[in-house]
Formats: sequence, C-alpha cells, structure tokens
Amino acid sequence: MKKSYLDTMPDDKGYFGDFGGSFLPPPLEAPFAKIRKAYDELSKSPEFLDELRYIRKHFQGRPTPITFAKNLTKFCGGANIYLKREDLNHMGAHKLNHTMAEALLAKKLGLKKLIAETGAGQHGVALATAAAYFGLECEIHMGEVDIKKERPNVIRMQILGAKVVPATHGLKTLKEAVDSAFEAYMSDPDSQLFCIGSVVGPHPYPKMIRDFQSIVGAESKEQFKELAKVDLPDMVTACIGGGSNAMGIFSGFIDDDVKLYGVEPMGRGDRIGEHSASMTFGTPGVMHGFNSVMLKDKDGEPAPVHSIASGIDYPSVGPEHAYLHSIGRTHIGLCDDDEAIDAFYTLSKLEGIIPALETAHAVAFAMKYAKDHKDENILVNISGRGDKDIDFVAQNYPR
Ligand SMILES: *Cc1c(COP(=O)(O)O)cnc(C)c1O
Repeated sequence: MKKSYLDTMPDDKGYFGDFGGSFLPPPLEAPFAKIRKAYDELSKSPEFLDELRYIRKHFQGRPTPITFAKNLTKFCGGANIYLKREDLNHMGAHKLNHTMAEALLAKKLGLKKLIAETGAGQHGVALATAAAYFGLECEIHMGEVDIKKERPNVIRMQILGAKVVPATHGLKTLKEAVDSAFEAYMSDPDSQLFCIGSVVGPHPYPKMIRDFQSIVGAESKEQFKELAKVDLPDMVTACIGGGSNAMGIFSGFIDDDVKLYGVEPMGRGDRIGEHSASMTFGTPGVMHGFNSVMLKDKDGEPAPVHSIASGIDYPSVGPEHAYLHSIGRTHIGLCDDDEAIDAFYTLSKLEGIIPALETAHAVAFAMKYAKDHKDENILVNISGRGDKDIDFVAQNYPR
C-alpha cells in the first residue's frame, strides 16, 4: 500500500522539504531531545492514544458536528457551504485538541508543570484548562501590555489556577513573553514541559501539534460523506496564524483530490506592519527555533504585524504550511479586517453562529470563493466561537 503523506512527513529531523528542523540554543538541546524521544514512543502507544480518545469524548465533547450552512449557501448564491464546528469544543475553540494532549504528555513524562507564553491569552486559557484537568501546575508568561488589554483571559487563567507572569521588558508584548517563558523554562527543564500553542517551534512540535489536531480532519472526512452524500468536499479552508487548526482539517484530505486554502490576514493594507500574511509576503528565514517563511523588518528581525484577530497576527507560519504551499499542494486565500468583520456579522445573523474574528477570515474567504465556484462543496473550519470578541466588535464596528 502507498504510504500516506502523514506517515512520511516530516522526516526524522523534523524537515518538511527545506522547512522545519530544530534551531536551539545549546542548553535547550538535551531537554528537547528528551521530548522528541518521548513523543516518538508515546505516539505509537495504544494506551496513550486510548487515553486521548477518552478525554476527547468525555471531557472535550468530541466529535464536534459538521453543520450545513443553508442560509449562508443561499446568500452567497453558489457553492454549498459546510462548517466543521470546532467552536463547540470545550472552551470554544480547537486549541484544547493540542493542549490536552500536551498535558497528557507531561503527565506521562512525570513532569509537574506546564509553561508557555501567550499573546491574547487564548493559548494560556486552553493550557490552564488542561493543567487543571490533570492536576498540573501552570505558568503563563504574558506581556504587561497584553495583560491590561486582555483582562478577561487573564482572569480566566487565574480562576483555572494558573500563575500569570508579566513580561516587563522591551515592548511588553508577545515577543518579550516568549523570552520570559523560555528563560523560566531553561532554569528548570527537568520538571516542566514547554507547551507551544501551534504547529510552530522546533521539531517535534510542528509534527506533534499537527498529529494532535488531525482528529479534526479525520472526523470531518467521515461526517462530510455522511451529511453531504458525496465522498469528498471540493475545497477545504481554514484561517492561518501559526496554522494548527488549518493543519488539523487539511490532514484529513491531504492525500485526496481536494483543494486546500489557508487564509491569511491582510489586516488594513499591504505594507509591512499592516498585515500578517506571512506566506504571501514572507521570505525564508529562521525564527523561534524553526526554518520557515517569515515577515522581516529592515534588519532581518521579525517584523511588526497586524490583524484585527489577535490569534493570527504572527510574523511567520508553521513549516509544514510553508512546504505545502511551496510544492503547490495548498493555496492562499486572503481576507482583510473589514471583510472579517462583515463575515462575523453575516455568519451570526444568517446561521446563529458567532465566529471568532480569526475564524471569520476563513468564513469571509469561503463566501468570496462560493460565488465563483457554483457547483462545488466547501468545508470551512470554524476554529472557534466569537464570545471573546463581542465587546471589541460592538464598540468598534457597531451595526
Ligand atoms: C488561536 C486561534 C487561531 C489561530 O491558531 P492556528 O494555530 O493558526 O490555528 C484560530 N482561531 C481561533 C479561534 C483561535 O483561538
């Protein structure tokens, strides 16, 4: 039998073609080698996979359904639009699919504490949830500026029992939070697991997080066939920040004749600093421990980025996305801030589903695509619900 794509990629050094790998400061090489070895063994362990299955069913509420968006389909006047409902996952987004698995990995390794940085706080909340479930300690590093801006998520993390550590140097946002979390991790790598929040970072994280998210694609494939009475959708789309929800749903269709579109945020313009469309405008480079494409400033450092959705304003992208795009297997869809707001309201009013602003990017692209591809079936990954965004939208974009 022909080997599936997922079985052959990445290679054992963590490369997807030229992209990926592991670029670490020497003190981190040994702890990451330990994580690689542990994941390699556990990913083949029926006991580990059984425990994950149990958690997904009895704690997260999986499988999440696929919904046929009949009103949106009619409104767009073209292709049939189906929605994979990751917004119905516990805590309202796809992120628990990987944080629960990372926490289980930590438990298996006998570690006491989960540590991570967070930007807007979504990853921090998802990780704090997993830590609570497993009775692990949780330490989340967050820029002081973001702590003020994202107060509801800070409170959620604290209620869930996590310790929120402010990063007080530099610009006091995500980059400083990464430095701060890495420093704290390095001080004691033997009792903590560094929990990356997307398909980014050094090997094995891009593979590991993709594997944990692949449940979304596996469920979708079966459910789509059952609901749509056709074997496969013609096109599958998802928004891309680091790219975990997109890799999750893409992984179910990667060996099939299905078009895959990752949607990048065009923000408010095409100049550096106005968007975070890393594959569209980026160039190859190493950042945060892996080789991918990234947006750079004049000095070759990660560029400032913008998107109305704080979960996708990242100046790079997971190496697997860079690879799949480079070989032409995936395509890029674009959506700017205004189109995202429009899709946010449209999906809410027509379908009774308030999407996260990140998710609204994928919805907006699907709406544009549907008009020009009348005979197709489209599947959109609804990566999360928009409760977290309602105050911001109502204040800044009232309708
Ligand atoms: C965090 C987040 C994203 C972006 O993360 P990816 O790793 O790119 O999937 C997208 N949607 C929602 C709802 C999120 O919370």
